[in-house]
Amino acid sequence: MKIAKIEMFQADLPYAGGSYELSGGRIYTSFDATFVCITTDDGLEGWGESTPFGTNYIAAHGLGARAGVAEIAPHLLGRDPRGVDRINDTMDEALTGHNHAKASIDAACWDLFGKSVGLPVCTLLGGATGQPLPVISSIYAGDPEDMRARVAAHRAKGYRGHSVKVGASEAEGGPALDAERIAASLADRQPGEYFIVDANGGLVPETALRMLRAVQSGLDFVLEAPCATWRETLSLRQRTDVPIILDELIQQDEDVAHLLAQDAADGIGLKITKSGGLTRSRRQRDICRSAGLTMSVQDTTGSTLAFAAIVHMGATVPSHLLRCVLDTRDMIATPTGQFDAPIQNGGVLPPDLPGLGITMDRGVLGQPVEIWTA
Ligand SMILES: [Mg+2]
Repeated sequence: MKIAKIEMFQADLPYAGGSYELSGGRIYTSFDATFVCITTDDGLEGWGESTPFGTNYIAAHGLGARAGVAEIAPHLLGRDPRGVDRINDTMDEALTGHNHAKASIDAACWDLFGKSVGLPVCTLLGGATGQPLPVISSIYAGDPEDMRARVAAHRAKGYRGHSVKVGASEAEGGPALDAERIAASLADRQPGEYFIVDANGGLVPETALRMLRAVQSGLDFVLEAPCATWRETLSLRQRTDVPIILDELIQQDEDVAHLLAQDAADGIGLKITKSGGLTRSRRQRDICRSAGLTMSVQDTTGSTLAFAAIVHMGATVPSHLLRCVLDTRDMIATPTGQFDAPIQNGGVLPPDLPGLGITMDRGVLGQPVEIWTA
């Protein structure tokens, strides 16, 4: 089984909620998505996606993803896609870094691997736990009562976790406003619900400590990505007893090792394209498991295809360590394929179909922007 053709597509995916506001004045209305389809010499197709969260979230952007794929693709023609670690070695030899470019190729190889043996990707990743994966909402920063209403709306749709965005500038209301946002978002908390307060690196220790002091004690939440740098995070870590989760700071495998060496946090946001694909996510999953770190399996954002990869990886994380998965379908209104994983009984389950279990809709993607053939 050899890679015979690699197609790359581009699509602008509108944010389903209109306008998404993040700390630092970052606002997003649509996302520049890259899709890869790998065809093998026996006619199987495998698909992967990379959709960065704008150009100023992590060091990843749509143009970069496509430039990276273009740099790598010629090196993969003729290779067996099922040797996923060897495929990743080849990608690393062709291009240093650029996880977000490699992730789409890597996911397509896993999709092919599954289809070639008639098994779901989650089985190849170690097997699904069989437990429904609790789904988390993404509550962008805004008026506290509006955030409370959006939490309630997601609760009504079956979401068991909520990622509440904070990081108000002093001019907007600063730590006091963020404390109000936390209080309002947690006001109607139901038993078993999980709350992340996510600053996306938008605080410094001083503002984070002021925010935490202003919050009523005893509220049950974890603080995700409070600060943009390791130094700031470690300083805050020493001065608060609120559990800390790292997200944007965790990209390479060695970042997880660094977290452990510094005891910098209690869990990670495992985002598949941020980590470089399913192969590297698998490795980070196992390091976290061995160290007792909790995981939220997510992606920067993405369409139905990105969600399929999330579901297959999330399904392999033991339930006591899996806090939630992100349903990117809630953020991107445009479906890119048929993926049968409804939210029911408190979560989603991976479909029992070969590969990623998605039937892609080429009509949504248009013509490829570039094609490589053997
Ligand atoms: Mg986050």
